[in-house]
Amino acid sequence: MSKIVFFCIPAHGHTNPTLGVVRELIARGHEVWYYSYKSMQEKIEATGAKFVACDDYDLEQKLDPKDAARVGKDLAFSTQLLVDTTLALDDMVMEHMKELEPDCIVADSMAVWGKAVALKLGIPFVSSTTTFAFNQHSAKILKQSLGELFSMIFSMPKINKNVKRLQDKGYPIKSVLDIIQNDNNTHTVVYTSPEFQPCAETFSDKYMFVGPSVRPAEEQIKKTKEKLIYISMGTVNNDMVKFYKNCIEALKGTDYQVILSVGNLVDMAEFQDLPENIRVYSHVDQIAVLQQADVFLSHCGMNSVNESLYYEVPLVTNPQTSEQGGVAARVEQMGAGIRLLKSTPEAIRESIEKVLADDSYRQKAVAIAQGFKKCSGAKGAADKILQVCKGQ
Ligand code: UDP
Repeated sequence: MSKIVFFCIPAHGHTNPTLGVVRELIARGHEVWYYSYKSMQEKIEATGAKFVACDDYDLEQKLDPKDAARVGKDLAFSTQLLVDTTLALDDMVMEHMKELEPDCIVADSMAVWGKAVALKLGIPFVSSTTTFAFNQHSAKILKQSLGELFSMIFSMPKINKNVKRLQDKGYPIKSVLDIIQNDNNTHTVVYTSPEFQPCAETFSDKYMFVGPSVRPAEEQIKKTKEKLIYISMGTVNNDMVKFYKNCIEALKGTDYQVILSVGNLVDMAEFQDLPENIRVYSHVDQIAVLQQADVFLSHCGMNSVNESLYYEVPLVTNPQTSEQGGVAARVEQMGAGIRLLKSTPEAIRESIEKVLADDSYRQKAVAIAQGFKKCSGAKGAADKILQVCKGQ
């Protein structure tokens, strides 16, 4: 029996794909501890893993809104935050790891403190990557400039100062890249298929593309019209009342059934007197909706796109962050959808109708779905983690 420790950030999109893997490991008789945040506790405990809360040590949660907006944009500030979080967790995690002696640490690519702990204690490590794997080749396709990112990192004296703070606490880290970037020597599980991953052939055999981990639907959605349009901007940056209202304006009185999931940041009172063909919810069983949908207008979070393509649903993409922009670019490149160029009601309706009218988008989605279904999934990810436990 192996002891495996997971680390993740408090985001459903990063947590959900790991849950099937955790279940698989536990079903095979292994023990799993999962370091995450109280907002994820229920779903983590439902897998049978032992949950450890990091909330009290996470500085990001305590930021004022002005500083919170700098996360991810201001690199020096973000690094400082990651280092602060790693150091804040240090005593608690070190004590626990020494007692536990885990066989392997699995950390989300953004929960860099997990990788830092593995390096410090020499524990075998697997990176869990819920977005595309990133190197200089895939960066080009995803239209994200790794080069720029790297030169910025190296040129920042503040970042070097933070690296020194980690070194002083016993972390064998030469550069911040050691923890934020996965190179070809890092065992990495990527939750997409080799066909959908840009430049999959440029990654070493330490990378395993296990395909999306799509949970089963929990309910059944009734299709009331021939075509069902699903709209969601995900669970994080979804405070977009104006956009949702434009969608309603675009599709009211049409012969389409429309389901809008708007998240819990917007006031549902904004959506009164809805047209007969449109329903707005703060949250839906997205899998159940996608099983019936004909087109998905999505922000292009990696999970939403994986789930959409898994159920052979072409997309209209409306990315809000550069990461989502990368996913949207790949959808377009594979021919499984088109980008929404303007957020006006006219542009929304035209884009949706373009995807509905041209079956090639759906056919491309079907081809990607076939690739997904060939992947080894949670079982493959569990096999990989157990191999790493054994030092293979
Ligand atoms: N989701 C859901 N119901 C909703 C909206 C989202 O179940 O009404 C799920 C969706 O199936 C996906 C996750 O939340 O698994 C969103 O992850 P994604 O990576 O797409 O976007 P994020 O929310 O992280 O921006």
